[in-house]
Amino acid sequence: MWAVRWHGRGDVRHETVPDAPAPGPREVRIAVAWCGLCGSDVLEYREGPFQVPVGAEHPVTGRRAPIVLGHEVSGRVRDVGAEVRAEARDIAEGALVALNALIPCGTCRECRSDAEHLCPDFGHIGMSADGGLAQYVTVPAAMVVPAPPGLDAETAALAEPFAVAWHLVRRVGSPRGRACLVVGSGSIGLAAALILRAGGNEVAVADVSKERLAPARTLGLAAFAEGGPGVDVVLECSGAAAGFALACRAARPGGTVGLAGLPGAPVPFDVSAAAHRELTLTGSMSHRAEADLRPALDFLAAHAPAARALITGRVDLAAAVTGGLDVLAGPARGRHTKILVRAGGDAA
Ligand SMILES: [Zn+2]
Ligand SMILES: [Zn+2]
Repeated sequence: MWAVRWHGRGDVRHETVPDAPAPGPREVRIAVAWCGLCGSDVLEYREGPFQVPVGAEHPVTGRRAPIVLGHEVSGRVRDVGAEVRAEARDIAEGALVALNALIPCGTCRECRSDAEHLCPDFGHIGMSADGGLAQYVTVPAAMVVPAPPGLDAETAALAEPFAVAWHLVRRVGSPRGRACLVVGSGSIGLAAALILRAGGNEVAVADVSKERLAPARTLGLAAFAEGGPGVDVVLECSGAAAGFALACRAARPGGTVGLAGLPGAPVPFDVSAAAHRELTLTGSMSHRAEADLRPALDFLAAHAPAARALITGRVDLAAAVTGGLDVLAGPARGRHTKILVRAGGDAA
């Protein structure tokens, strides 16, 4: 089959690879329809390796480079493992599904206490296991969630950023009727803004780049103006030091700051300001299949036209590097929120 594989820094190739294996008893094989490109893919390509194992094999997946990239997957179930079939889960052949890309170890304290997304050793589909920039991908059935009726495969490929945003909104208490600010107008920030707005909150968006605020404007989201009264809830989705500083500055006394953006290096932080104003800082890590990915898919089905405004480019698998990763690493990146790759399985 055709796939896009990470071989080394600056070396990601569209090439033929062995077919995704037939599923084990607790796995499914998916014919990929669409796979979104993510900032983490660009980082791994241009500056990695960060998550792709190169020397030793990954402790959970047993894999190392070369690895098929891509974790924002939608596709149709092609084959179902025997135990999955016996359980009669809702992931039969032909079902449109999306993925939670984390593969937990299953044995550590977090995995045993229903917090698999905090597993210190987890593997990651598209980083330490073969991912969705391919015609087919074989994954644990536990990480697969079916799309609700009426949701199309292209919109379903937005499920991962919306599930990450859903988890973040849950982590700050699923606010209703509050004043909210989202810092960072990328796909997770915009997804979080749409989810907050649908929850009856007043939502503003901030971004250092005017160009990146354009999609927020298109969606009717207000641009944040500093100097007003503090907001109840701030979601930091930029990963920039200035974004984190703004998030803490903009929160009202007693307010909550949810942290999803990941700065590349430690950022300075005014602890006394946060202490005196009793800010609550809440971390948020990825998402969970049932608690986040399933409601995110329902949200996408109910709000597809707005959600689809995040899709700013579509390319074929053969052009995933030149028309996708290179674009997101280059001067035109500010014009893009989400580029989707048409994977060319038999799913579309
Ligand atoms: Zn992603
Ligand atoms: Zn674990």
